[in-house]
Amino acid sequence: MRLSQFFPALALAVTAHAQAQTKALRFASVVDGTGRVVPNGVVIVDGDKITRIAGPRDALPANAQVIDLTRYTAIPGMIDVHTHITYYWDPTSGTDPWRQPRRAPEMTVQVARQNGIKALEDGVTAVRDMGASNYTDVALRDSINKAGWVGPRLFVSGSGLSRARPPYQPNTDTTHTLRGRVFNISQIPEAVKQQVDAGADQIKMFGSTGSGADVTGNETFSFDEMKAAVDAAHGFGKRIAIHSYGPQGGRDAVLAGANSLEHAIDLDDATLAEMVKRGTFYVPTIDHNRYYAEYKTDFRYTDQQAAALDSFRLRNFETARRAFKAGVKLAMGSDAVFHMFGQNTRELGWYVKLGMTPAQALATATTNGAALLGQEKTLGKIAPGYYADIVAVEGNPLNDINVVLNNVRWVMKGGAVVVDKTK
Ligand SMILES: [Zn+2]
Repeated sequence: MRLSQFFPALALAVTAHAQAQTKALRFASVVDGTGRVVPNGVVIVDGDKITRIAGPRDALPANAQVIDLTRYTAIPGMIDVHTHITYYWDPTSGTDPWRQPRRAPEMTVQVARQNGIKALEDGVTAVRDMGASNYTDVALRDSINKAGWVGPRLFVSGSGLSRARPPYQPNTDTTHTLRGRVFNISQIPEAVKQQVDAGADQIKMFGSTGSGADVTGNETFSFDEMKAAVDAAHGFGKRIAIHSYGPQGGRDAVLAGANSLEHAIDLDDATLAEMVKRGTFYVPTIDHNRYYAEYKTDFRYTDQQAAALDSFRLRNFETARRAFKAGVKLAMGSDAVFHMFGQNTRELGWYVKLGMTPAQALATATTNGAALLGQEKTLGKIAPGYYADIVAVEGNPLNDINVVLNNVRWVMKGGAVVVDKTK
């Protein structure tokens, strides 16, 4: 006798709950992120976690909701370790992305959701965000985690630490740090603590000039200042990413003990060897300069600026090629801003061009990204105990990286389907 005969409403609720709890995802193939490929694998998901990968003829849990994805290959949800998710721009607004009318922080949090959805549509289920104003990144993260907003898992930095330049920052004084801006080394521990207190997951430091059309890479913090930031961050149990466009800042960031080095070109062999020795991650962000040059009209960049972006990109590519060859660990970071969300994984195309296999490229966006976040036990693999962050792609991603870039059809994050283009 069925329970529903006595308590129809209750039974329905119980059934719906059970269906929400256990899911069996049938794929043509499961690329699990460990190097293993399971033909006709069935991923069993309980709540927000993966419990196992079953074979095609294995018995499935009773009451499991079976989702037929047998036209697709499963890959782990990808991790983009360098974004600025709160940098939102509406291409129909007629404004310059860098000079938009002022937006209230509350509104920034709202519109940034759209960037997050674009990232999810790319198969990016986790993001390390590398700096935002007014802690809008913290608010967005918490809205996703605690208020049910749809978006990728966010690991945020708050205000990136930058060199305060009195002539350009009239509202800052020399006794207090503001928005991560510091005048001298004595303010660095306090600036780091401010980010941690505000809820930052990791620390970001701008160790050189360079952003947008500006591809100068002049070091803005000394080795000692970088070391002070690294020591303060590590003292709070936080990791630190240091931005440097140029090689000097890159070298000092590595020697100071940064967990990851962002962007840098023309790194010398000694620095690359040091990165291998220390396990420093390199996040080259090659593709973002392709983006700026390609959308030069939207940004109102001159042809000369676009040419400078292109030549920086070539050197960036060459540095990444040498780094990979030297054995440096790379993690995929897009440096996505504005309408680059939705192009988050194009970086992987450059990685294959510089000599990685598609599997190695995919690893930069899965296991390597997870390791950089310190989440290697929960993210980056389709394996028991890991979050059910799973992407279905059409085609074989191990033969052709473009399958990952262009053929994402379905995305699950934490056991919930967040993108479905299978119909
Ligand atoms: Zn950035």
